[in-house]
Amino acid sequence: MFKKPVFSATAGDRSPRVRLSELSAGYPGRPVLHQLDADIPALAITALVGPNGSGKSTLLGVVAGVIRPTSGELRHNGGRPPAFVPQRGAVGDALPLTVRQTVEMGRWGDRGPWRRLTRRDRATVDTAMERLAVTDLAARQLAELSGGQRQRVLIAQGLAQESDLLLLDEPTTGLDPEARERITSLLTELVTDGVTVVQATHDLAAARSADACLLLHDGHLAGQGDPAQLLTASTLARIWQPV
Ligand code: ADP
Ligand code: MG
Repeated sequence: MFKKPVFSATAGDRSPRVRLSELSAGYPGRPVLHQLDADIPALAITALVGPNGSGKSTLLGVVAGVIRPTSGELRHNGGRPPAFVPQRGAVGDALPLTVRQTVEMGRWGDRGPWRRLTRRDRATVDTAMERLAVTDLAARQLAELSGGQRQRVLIAQGLAQESDLLLLDEPTTGLDPEARERITSLLTELVTDGVTVVQATHDLAAARSADACLLLHDGHLAGQGDPAQLLTASTLARIWQPV
């Protein structure tokens, strides 16, 4: 039996928020993830690293509950339904939505799109926007924003869901170094607020600053643990070797 950890609001807590056991998943006629055994530690940032096509987005989809495992087990240790921020481009950049409307959509899971938001919903939206420093952008159209601003808005939408598990698919891809660093440090702050963060990333600086790392190669788990030990030049060369 999977034991419930004693919850303490410290970033050093390493008990798993999610546990994958012999988990396989994919798409009809296309197996992608093969027999993964992995833990996602609670109240920490886990970086999901691997070449294009290695299965990072698929794994996030599985943890988010939008892709069903074909075999094996996925265990969530308590908490609310995960908040999932998909890869850029998966979210219509041209949707005629303001920043505030976009963040408010984070409340739909609890409220439904037709009900008016309650005072508490609005307060949750305000807090999420403040946390990601997008309050001043509230009335702007999503399509007008810089990549870094838009990414912060989408993370605020995830935060407005009040989940304790935030899943981000390449949140810093395509951003300049300053915007990347800003997002990385915001994610660190979220952990101190009690959120578990998983981010798929190509950004080795971000991966190295994470608390834990899952290394994927061709749908197999090539390693897990401390990023500093895992992300060595020789491992990376082996994983990213040209095919
Ligand atoms: P990554 O995020 O690491 O680039 P993905 O999880 O997106 O990897 O993709 C892993 C594999 O699954 C790739 O070979 C990709 O072509 C395939 N794949 C991704 N999405 C689908 C889909 N909707 N239907 C079929 N195959 C898919
Ligand atoms: Mg991907």
